[in-house]
Amino acid sequence: MQRTHSLNAFFRGRFGQRVQKIPLDAGFNCPNRDGTLSRHGCVFCNESGSGSGLLDKGLDLRAQWSHWQERVQKKHSQVLFAAYLQSYTNTYGPYEKLEGVLQQLQGLPGLVALSIGTRPDCLDERKLDLLAKQKDALGLGEIYLELGLQTANNDTLKYINRGHSAEDFAFAASRAHQRGINVVTHVIAGLPSPQGIEGAKDLLSTVRFVNSLPVQGVKFHNLYVCKNTRLAHMWKNGEYHPITLEQYCDWLGQALMILPPETVIHRLNGDPTQEELLAPEWAGEKGKILNAIHDHLERNDFWQGRANGASDGPPEYFTSPARERKKHAL
Ligand code: SF4
Repeated sequence: MQRTHSLNAFFRGRFGQRVQKIPLDAGFNCPNRDGTLSRHGCVFCNESGSGSGLLDKGLDLRAQWSHWQERVQKKHSQVLFAAYLQSYTNTYGPYEKLEGVLQQLQGLPGLVALSIGTRPDCLDERKLDLLAKQKDALGLGEIYLELGLQTANNDTLKYINRGHSAEDFAFAASRAHQRGINVVTHVIAGLPSPQGIEGAKDLLSTVRFVNSLPVQGVKFHNLYVCKNTRLAHMWKNGEYHPITLEQYCDWLGQALMILPPETVIHRLNGDPTQEELLAPEWAGEKGKILNAIHDHLERNDFWQGRANGASDGPPEYFTSPARERKKHAL
């Protein structure tokens, strides 16, 4: 039984087949790293800014697209694609830079959706209008703005050096939504805060804050320690202790229960590479984490939105048509 409304199921329902996200590095920077706001970045941010590193190897956007597309098509014959502008802050800098990057996406084979990862303080009216136009300009089925929030607690945001407030996030989310752009937010469990480590209560209050805004999707992350980050120093000095897998499952289960069932879950856990990960060890075992989360939900008969009442079980749309077909074929 599917107990969350996954992006995979949403895409299958929306497009009738698998949609694979392709990460793209368009060469943007971040005001929290280039000295505009700070040179240190968020405490957990490593130098790659979640990038694939392909741009540094000389691959432009089209070459990056082909690189990933070929890999995916070796595994799946029936597949469509979503472009994901992932690295750093993809609406930072001059309007013309963003415009040029979006133009390069025109005509990419199989493209049906676009996700743009950015910060809430790097969006003005003109850029939002430009993004809203892309649905028609690129002939997309869906467009998503991935806005980092991490926590709704402003003291923690300051402590982790985010450089923006929860109110900045709320303002940007509303303006994007007014233009028909789907807003997806990132939320992190186990952040260091002035009071110690953020716990279940903090995660739930962040989810309640997200629920009060026009947000259509959430990416949940368990905080892990990467090499070459300020968090790594804190961890080595004994100032930061990562949460356990049991704690993460417990807190995430509670968070999912209060999340509306319509909200699409784009991610249930962080996914570091083995090369960058310092701690905790379990953060590098994606399969084990997902199994633990699903076991936890199953054992407790939890499902997304259950605390909001009414339904006797998870809605049917949690189960993708493909999963159903596979089940009947057995
Ligand atoms: S906003 Fe993103 S890219 Fe910028 S410092 Fe923070 S995590 Fe890194």
